[in-house]
Amino acid sequence: MHDVELLAVSKGQSLEKMLEAIKAGQRSFGESYVQEALDKIERLSAFDVNWHFIGRIQSNKTRDIATHFDWVHSVARADIAQRLNQHRGQQQAPLNVCLQVNISEEASKSGVVLHDVLPLARLIVSLPHLKLRGLMAIPAQTDCVDQQLIAYKTLYDAQQLLIKQGFQLDTLSMGLSRDFKAAILAGSTMVRIGTRLFGPRVDAR
Ligand SMILES: *Cc1c(COP(=O)(O)O)cnc(C)c1O
Repeated sequence: MHDVELLAVSKGQSLEKMLEAIKAGQRSFGESYVQEALDKIERLSAFDVNWHFIGRIQSNKTRDIATHFDWVHSVARADIAQRLNQHRGQQQAPLNVCLQVNISEEASKSGVVLHDVLPLARLIVSLPHLKLRGLMAIPAQTDCVDQQLIAYKTLYDAQQLLIKQGFQLDTLSMGLSRDFKAAILAGSTMVRIGTRLFGPRVDAR
């Protein structure tokens, strides 16, 4: 079995719970709301923690995201990629980026459709302050493990296609509390787990 990194999704979770996780050795945290995240980043600045932005990206928040995060998993538009690139500090290492794919092709879910993955990947690798690490998806919610596997296998195949085209990718960000087992079976290298780790969220927005 390959290595799978645990991204602790801490949106809507208290600082106390996050400190407990840090004490237990957890180093990577995922947040979806910029204001909540900036507050936590400041209050936990004494700790050596990696911050991953996994939420919807509004254009007016790209500066905050590019400056304060180490990773962004939810890049799905060319103009957003360009803004993140432009706002990433010149002294900072390139921002790690995953391209979010809408594998279930539902109107309500964000992400690019499979057809648009290649052109957006090409754009991202041309931007000097971004580093494309791989793909991410949030498939349609289902309890059917076969459906979960099909969805995640689709993302895995899309990643393999990019690798065949010469892209150097090492991250497949897939799997949350409800379906991480299927995601790992399908080749996930990073699972994003919130409630299964911390318990129910309070809406902190
Ligand atoms: C909230 C969230 C998660 C974690 O979901 P859980 O069901 O709490 O594990 C994972 N990925 C994304 C993009 C999220 O927004």
